Amino acid sequence: MKRIAIPTGEELPIVGQGCSGIGEDERAESARSKEQIYALELGIDLGMTLLDTAEGYASGHSEEIVGQVIRGKRDKVFIATKFSPENHEFPGVIRAAEGSLRRLKTEYIDLYQIHWPNPTVPIEETLRALEHLRDQGKIRHIGLSNFSAREMHVAQSKLLRGQIFSNQVEYNLFDRFIETSIMPHCLSTDALVLAYSPLDKGRTVDGDDGRQLLSTLAEKYQRTPSQIALNWLTSQPSVIAIPKAVRVEHVRQNAASTDFKLSQEDKEAIAQVCSREPAWIDPGHIRVSLAGEGNKKVYQTREEALSNTLGLSPSPTELAEFIRQGEPTKPVRLVKNDDPRDEFPYDLIEGRLRYWAWVIAFNGERPVPAYIRMGKK
Ligand code: NAP
Repeated sequence: MKRIAIPTGEELPIVGQGCSGIGEDERAESARSKEQIYALELGIDLGMTLLDTAEGYASGHSEEIVGQVIRGKRDKVFIATKFSPENHEFPGVIRAAEGSLRRLKTEYIDLYQIHWPNPTVPIEETLRALEHLRDQGKIRHIGLSNFSAREMHVAQSKLLRGQIFSNQVEYNLFDRFIETSIMPHCLSTDALVLAYSPLDKGRTVDGDDGRQLLSTLAEKYQRTPSQIALNWLTSQPSVIAIPKAVRVEHVRQNAASTDFKLSQEDKEAIAQVCSREPAWIDPGHIRVSLAGEGNKKVYQTREEALSNTLGLSPSPTELAEFIRQGEPTKPVRLVKNDDPRDEFPYDLIEGRLRYWAWVIAFNGERPVPAYIRMGKK
């Protein structure tokens, strides 16, 4: 496993282990939990010693499983966890950290990440709490997740001491949006990129051309398409990929995904074939699908979004304000409908908050930036 040096002089593996979806079966003794524990232990033995979890995963049970896995090997692993937007006020951060430490059964968290920005709480307040935890030795590094380049810049400028360690953001061969501004910002500030959903939630690559190229390269290098994808992603500077894998062959493949070198020519071919400009779609042509990616709460009408009945933070209206100010917006994700008679040619499957924010920002009159999936898989 290739490793990357961090400012403390330690080294981290460039492929770690994601732990969302881990612990959804709350019975620790269930076959499912045992399989997940085995997978994480095997991953650690194979060098994937960075584990990423969150207080929000399986209502904290993912952290409990991680706590069980790292027992007796705390000094060999690097534990990253996150706290949720409802805990951004000073006492909330402290309480959330105490909860995570208890569930992880550890005295310190290596990387404590703000899971999502929450503009309703001043970032200074959240950062003061994080610095307090760092002074107490309860966390070692402060990280972000799902922050834009502008939000990263603001967070760094409000830190009293030290650096933002990382930004955890989606990065895979379907969605390379971070390359526009987040990745350059990370590079210029020596922050790591923790690439989440690096295998696009198991799809690896989208579209016939991309699939064809990856399978040709898989054959050439005697690897799997997922290994080619992880190798390409982690060959970008300062990127650590955190795939989630429970199946043993997946764990083994991911751990071996950095043991070979793609030629410059092949890297460029992947970059070219898997590049994607956003399409600009009339919001009236988009159906807000309830069955989207992830199990998220969804607004179905503009009125619901405007009154933020689900209490989302940021609210669609708050996000709309940033969009109006020109904040680069990650494209929403659509699937094209096969039925030509359908009044909505597209289903919105991801980015529903961003969709409503965009509609509110421009009164439904401006096309929405979107990545369109080729198939419904
Ligand atoms: P992912 O890692 O892109 O994909 C996971 C899926 O890929 C699983 O179905 C897994 O199957 C499969 N897989 C794993 N290794 C494979 C391989 N070598 N070949 C083929 N398939 C393989 O998606 P993710 O779980 O969304 O993301 C990973 C981690 O990122 C999460 O666990 C979490 O830690 C983090 N994350 C963070 C955020 C955030 O907001 N910060 C959001 C999403 C995810 P099996 O499990 O059956 O092996």
